Amino acid sequence: MSFIPYGRQLISQDDIDAVAEVLRGDFLTQGPKVGEFERGVSDAVGASHAVACNSGTSALHIACLALGLGEGDYLWTSPNSFVASANCARYCGASVDFVDIDLHTGNMDVNRLQEKLIHARQHGKLPKVVVPVHFAGQPCEMAEIGRLAQEYGFYVIEDASHALGAQYHGAPVGSSQYSDITVFSFHPVKIITSGEGGMAVTNNPVFAEKMRLFVSHGITKDPEHLSQNDGPWYYEQQELGFNYRMTDIHAALGVSQLTRLGEWVARRNQLAEHYHDLLQSLPVTPLEVISQVISSYHLYVIRLDLNEIKIGRRQLVERLRGQGIGVQIHYIPIHTQPYYSKLGFSKGDFPVAEQYYQEALSLPLFPAMSEEDLDRVAVALKSSIN
Ligand SMILES: *Cc1c(COP(=O)(O)O)cnc(C)c1O
Repeated sequence: MSFIPYGRQLISQDDIDAVAEVLRGDFLTQGPKVGEFERGVSDAVGASHAVACNSGTSALHIACLALGLGEGDYLWTSPNSFVASANCARYCGASVDFVDIDLHTGNMDVNRLQEKLIHARQHGKLPKVVVPVHFAGQPCEMAEIGRLAQEYGFYVIEDASHALGAQYHGAPVGSSQYSDITVFSFHPVKIITSGEGGMAVTNNPVFAEKMRLFVSHGITKDPEHLSQNDGPWYYEQQELGFNYRMTDIHAALGVSQLTRLGEWVARRNQLAEHYHDLLQSLPVTPLEVISQVISSYHLYVIRLDLNEIKIGRRQLVERLRGQGIGVQIHYIPIHTQPYYSKLGFSKGDFPVAEQYYQEALSLPLFPAMSEEDLDRVAVALKSSIN
């Protein structure tokens, strides 16, 4: 039987043709496809500006730089995320702290955020940036986070790596109504792919301008921004930037993939419904979806009732993988990674994320899966835990 991974890209002939066309053309990089992809994404999510990058991680980094995050500052994020959500602060020389999660959604718990802010204000250690992560594709409670941002004076970067195509209170994630910048990833397991790639979107023209500088060495050629002008060759390096540019090859794939965003998010939701039905009688609990949101269902996560199932989670993962079912665990709490332990974090610091980690299991979910594939996953799960 074939192996079903937990996530997988879906590539069409149109995608292949779009990439081939770039390869036959004049620009492999710094050509028109990057701008086209930026406009496509900003239109799709309702943001005024978009800056494409070579990864979601670089997009997080330039977002932090644009907000002026640096030494002596704090960035807070969720421990239940990929390490990049926290590392972006470290690249800037800033410190990281975490806000524990809600066990039922896997997202940052806004009550804990508020408690931590009250405490931090008393100790003069308020964060400069908070990075809520829309875990598994479900938007965080952004209205509350936005209200706290106003009250406590921090910036918000939404890590929407999982959540392209998701909606919050009727608006697409990325419209950034309650945040300063929203970041997407186009890694192949994500909602759409450009191979590697990412994008930072914002409604703030100053942040957009800064991010554009940081993506390309801190260099500008825009006559309006030059301090002098020696001639048509002239450019200036105004900041210490990076080469985080997306290529036209990647952008062409992204543009082509983007045309199927709505269809794929709908399909992911349909498959998630089917999983809900199949798993109803088992001692497992799917992530809760809060009201007034549409999840993009990057992941289908269940929590195992470890008292009810007959085997340990590790055995379960090994057994399912042995049957060709590529289950995965999202996520090992970031603060328990050796790098973050060295910075002073310990087990026990964020107990809900740690409990969640013990119970979580991501079942395969991607648009090319059939209902029969899900049936096969459910049968294997059922027979393994009984
Ligand atoms: C994938 C991911 C990233 C990083 O994206 P890359 O494009 O792989 O660099 C950041 N945060 C989260 C939550 C992710 O899942």
